[in-house]
Amino acid sequence: MDKKKTALIMVDMLNDFVTGALKCDRGLAIVPHCKTLIEGLREKGVPVIYSNDAHLKGVDHELKFWGEHAIAGTKGAEVIPELSPKEGDYVVDKRRYSGFFHTSLDLLLRELGVDTVILGGLHTHMCVRHTAADAYMLGYNVVVASDCTDSFTKEDYEYGIKYLKDTYGATVLTSKEILDTLN
Ligand code: ZN
Repeated sequence: MDKKKTALIMVDMLNDFVTGALKCDRGLAIVPHCKTLIEGLREKGVPVIYSNDAHLKGVDHELKFWGEHAIAGTKGAEVIPELSPKEGDYVVDKRRYSGFFHTSLDLLLRELGVDTVILGGLHTHMCVRHTAADAYMLGYNVVVASDCTDSFTKEDYEYGIKYLKDTYGATVLTSKEILDTLN
């Protein structure tokens, strides 16, 4: 992996997904790994992009299905304090599962000269999966940070990882492997 052509997309590590409305213990458990990866990549000059749910209350149809969560402008829609964005990071809001759907994420990646995206965050089989789908269809290589993503259950996580490998040819690496191999 060429660090000049790679970016991290950290999906939905928000208060509502980790400790709030849709909290899950498995989400909390990956936080230290996410922190190591984010900090290591920043040090290497790799762009860190947060892809964050920012729903419009009473508008977004996803809310009917999942209940109210990550409403734009609320505490629940903020990145968890342990991983909060720093100067030089990018934040791209989304209103659907995919970080690309009607957002400027593709434009940002193109302007940064990126051809490979590392995906982490929540949940492996949903928002990470849909973001991987669009990344793949737009021509990006997909890498998944296996210890920096999870789902509500172990089964959903394993299914998600398998789907990403089988369908998008995703390379699955731990945060340590990513930091060791990225030059
Ligand atoms: Zn959502």
